Order: sequence, then C-alpha cells, then structure tokens
Amino acid sequence: ETLDKGLEKSKSSFFGKLSKAVAGKSKVDDDVLDELEEILVASDVGVTTTIKIIKRIEERVAKDKYLGTDELNLILREEIAGLLSETETDSKLGFHIPEGKKPYVIMVVGVNGVGKTTTIGKLAHQFKSQGKNVVLGAADTFRAAAIDQLQVWADRTGVPIVKQQMGSDPASVAFETVQEAVKQNADVVLVDTAGRLHNKVNLMNELSKVKRVMQKVADNVPDEVLLVLDGSTGQNAFEQAKQFTAATEVTSLAITKLDGTAKGGVVIGISDQFQIPVKYIGVGEGIEDLQAFDKFEFVDSFFK
Ligand code: GDP
Repeated sequence: ETLDKGLEKSKSSFFGKLSKAVAGKSKVDDDVLDELEEILVASDVGVTTTIKIIKRIEERVAKDKYLGTDELNLILREEIAGLLSETETDSKLGFHIPEGKKPYVIMVVGVNGVGKTTTIGKLAHQFKSQGKNVVLGAADTFRAAAIDQLQVWADRTGVPIVKQQMGSDPASVAFETVQEAVKQNADVVLVDTAGRLHNKVNLMNELSKVKRVMQKVADNVPDEVLLVLDGSTGQNAFEQAKQFTAATEVTSLAITKLDGTAKGGVVIGISDQFQIPVKYIGVGEGIEDLQAFDKFEFVDSFFK
C-alpha cells in the first residue's frame, strides 16, 4: 500500500483518467482512442511510446470493435506492462547480487538535483537492512555540497564513506573506494559521480575513466551503471536519458520524485524508448521511500 500512497498523484490523475476514458465504453472508436492518446501524451509517456500503444490497441480491436470495458482495460494494462523493459531478473526485483560477486559495484550517474545522493542513501539503507556491508564513494568531487550530502547519508545509514577533497580526481576516489571495499571484504559499493552535462565529451571521458580505474582493482566492474532521473521533469528526463546513454552504457534506471508528480507516465515512456529496465522508483524524501520497481504492480495499482 506504500506504492499506492507514493503514487497517489499519478493515480488520481494519469491512470485515473485512463480508467475513466475506457469505463462504460462498449466500443473502441476513434473518439476513445483520441482521448487515450491525449491522456498518455499529457502524462509524459512521450509521443513515440504513445503512438506505439495506440497502434497496438488499434490492431487488437481491429477485428472486433465492440469490446467490453473490462476487455479494453485488460488490453491497456497488458500493452503498457509489455512496453516496460524486460529484465532477466524479473522474479527478483531491484538489484540482484549474484552469490560470490564481491564487491558488487554500482556506479550512480545523473545530473545534480535529480535525487542521486538521496537514492544512494536509500539504497545503502536497503542493502544494510539485508545484512550486506556497504561502502560509499564520493566521486562527485566538483561540488563540496555533493561530498557533504553523501557524508550525511553515510552517517544516517552507518555506512563507511571514501572521500577526498573537493576538486580531486573522481577516478582516484572511485579507485580508492573499490580498494577499500576489497580490503573490508564489503558486499556492495555505491559510487556517486558528477553529472555535469555541459560538455558531452568531458562526461564521456570522465565516466569511462572512473570505470577503467575501478577495473584495475576488481574484475568486471561496475556491475551496474544506474542512471537517476527526476520523474517530475518530463522532457528533461528524456533528454538526460539520451545524453547519458550516449556517454556510457547505462544498465538500469531509478526514477525519483514520483510522489510529487501526476505524470507517472514518464516511467513507461523512458523505459520503452531507451530499453533500459527501471529498477527503482523514488516516492518520497524519507530513507524508506525507494521501491524496487515491479511493473505489474505499478500498472495494476492504477487500474484498481
Ligand atoms: P542530487 O543533487 O541528484 O544528489 O539530489 P539530492 O539527492 O540531493 O536530492 C535533491 C532533492 O530532491 C532533495 O531535497 C531530496 O530530498 C529530494 N528527493 C530525492 N528523491 C526524492 C523523491 O523520490 N521524492 C521527493 N519528493 N523528493 C526527493
């Protein structure tokens, strides 16, 4: 029920409207499809994904234009869930750390203000609650505030942090962090990185350097490159996804601040457009307000 609460705004707006648009309709005509299209676009699903959904519904109803409400509802749910990226670990939600993979290194990327630090703190808390030893790395060395903020989360979660002075080499911090994790036989490493987007080549070089350097300490790391996006920023989130996926190989997404927006559709659009699984959603500022993403639960929660 925490999911329902965290997504209240989207629920009453986006999916609520979707449900209403199909409720009581016995026939899927152009008016219904137009209405659906409008709602999807207005909810930040994005034009490309919206067209895809509408097309698929059209195809499915082409043979028999007369459908009951329940059937159309079902089709809509199926099509939306189908667009959310499949992951090989679907049965295990969130990050799944394989037995014996130590340390499991998660490199966290994203622009300032999207909730990167908060997400790292919440993840540290979750891993720790699972009995795992976590080490944080403050490799966003460009802002003193970023290092301080991560320190706050380290204190709050009781997790060690590796940091250097502001302005030091991010790769050096990342190197030291993984080294420290190996020394401590830690299970999980969460590395914060700087997400300045004003120079694409810089971003690309910096992220690959951080990666390369960590690989000197441990094999096959990072295990995950998690891109954090602010779900309340619509087109900006799409744009950032475009830039970061061009700069590095993003393996998973965390979409934050879904509690503060009525446009939960951004989750569907971004996952579909970039074919990257959403692993976590942020539904508040508190330490517990991060949920492993379950696409069926997500879609279902809106049609209840
Ligand atoms: P960073 O600059 O990307 O590291 O962003 P921060 O982690 O410092 O977060 C920026 C602001 O967003 C802070 O005030 C956080 O409390 C807030 N925030 C982060 N995640 C969420 C979320 O899921 N929901 C809400 N409502 N606020 C969030």
